[in-house]
Amino acid sequence: MKDPDCLFCKIIDCEIPSEKVYEDKTTYVFKDINPQAKVHDIIVPREHYANVAELAQKDPKQLAHMVEVAQQIANEEFHGAYRLVFNTGKDAGQTVFHVHGHILTGEVLDE
Ligand code: 5GP
Ligand code: ZN
Repeated sequence: MKDPDCLFCKIIDCEIPSEKVYEDKTTYVFKDINPQAKVHDIIVPREHYANVAELAQKDPKQLAHMVEVAQQIANEEFHGAYRLVFNTGKDAGQTVFHVHGHILTGEVLDE
């Protein structure tokens, strides 16, 4: 299911351009427009879910797949070390309500 007003649905459908890092049948990864680390990618399912809790409940295999893809990217970028962050809820800093993981890697990260 898609949300016609959703920024990340539009990015997945190439209505809005993005710098692609990886894609498969269910999952899309692109570079964050405002990187907070040497490598800062955004990983999303092609299907629209509002947040990681909804994804975990409705399609846990997809969430596990996203962790696998993040691991693979970090293996290539920085010997398998990475941070995977899901901001959940406006008061936690979520600004786009299509579930997305921030993959931060490519350098030693601050604690
Ligand atoms: P949130 O704050 O919801 O956890 O993360 C949203 C992320 O999406 C932010 O890090 C922001 O920089 C990124 N972002 C917002 N708009 C765009 C865009 O149009 N293109 C790309 N590549 N990233 C975006
Ligand atoms: Zn969406």
